[in-house]
Amino acid sequence: MSTILVTGGAGYIGSHVARQLGERGEDIVTLDNLSTGFRSAVLHGDLVVGDTGDADLVSRLLHERGIDTIMHFAAHIVVPESVADPLKYYRNNTVNTRNMLECAVNAGVKNFIFSSTAAVYGIPEGGVASEDTPTQPINPYGLSKLMSEWMLRDVAAVTPLNYVALRYFNVAGADPGGRIGQATPEATHLIKVACEHIVGKRDQVSIFGTDFDTPDGTGIRDYIHVEDLAAAHLRALDYLRAGGTSSILNCGYGQGFSVRQVLETVAGIAGQPMNIDEGPRRAGDPPKLVARAERIRSTLDWQPQHADLAGIVASALAWERKLQSSPMT
Ligand code: UDP
Repeated sequence: MSTILVTGGAGYIGSHVARQLGERGEDIVTLDNLSTGFRSAVLHGDLVVGDTGDADLVSRLLHERGIDTIMHFAAHIVVPESVADPLKYYRNNTVNTRNMLECAVNAGVKNFIFSSTAAVYGIPEGGVASEDTPTQPINPYGLSKLMSEWMLRDVAAVTPLNYVALRYFNVAGADPGGRIGQATPEATHLIKVACEHIVGKRDQVSIFGTDFDTPDGTGIRDYIHVEDLAAAHLRALDYLRAGGTSSILNCGYGQGFSVRQVLETVAGIAGQPMNIDEGPRRAGDPPKLVARAERIRSTLDWQPQHADLAGIVASALAWERKLQSSPMT
């Protein structure tokens, strides 16, 4: 049987994909340095604690475990941090992806599924991005991922390796079974922050900008449930195994919600009022970023099962309550 190497499998999105792979009976091994991930998030297969930049370790793993597919999640993901410390991002996200690719090519790995981001688009015209929209990242995080996409493209052109790069929009929600979810300390993402406020971990939620050119003045994003996103990775795996050609695909629903709409949904689901502060814009935030999301449906035959903001929020809140009573280790 072919084995899948999941880098960053102890992190938020990687652990959800690994869980779905394990539930389907796939043979997986996780590589994670546990810098932001958690041992207890690895529910299936072995965890190897190590770095994606460690060529000896990665090569050994690929050969010894008979890896045919790499799913590469391991990355730093905090946009403001990438602005403050760009070299940290170019090392972990770009240089280490280069290492993974070199090891993959040398070991004859066939399939590479890459976690990319809507941040590659920067500020697209009209706030809606299709895969053909020009890529113009406005921060080192987006650029670190875009450079990885370029490497994938160039490597796939001259080797047998095929890839799918999935450009994630705003991922939220958690495992319906309540076992795993987003647990990173000092989270910055809106739904997570709002849920932390509901359970008492934060005194308030700030709206970053109320003067955007949007219907209610706040930023609009395309929120996707982590379960649907994880399912897209399994579809991408099936697609590549069936001989599908290398592709770049947006992962969103094609539906936008404003910050105010999200906060109203959180307050409604929680059944309690929130302490909301209206603050200035956050540097680098586009007013609107929503996916054109047709290509992933037609290419992967992916059908979202959780495209509902209230459901996403309910699952994120249930997880936050669980985390409050039993922190992850
Ligand atoms: N946002 C906010 N308050 C917060 C966190 C985020 O108003 O505490 C806004 C942010 O300006 C953006 C949207 O919520 O318009 C989504 O931000 P998030 O950080 O969740 O994801 P991003 O789109 O930046 O990747």
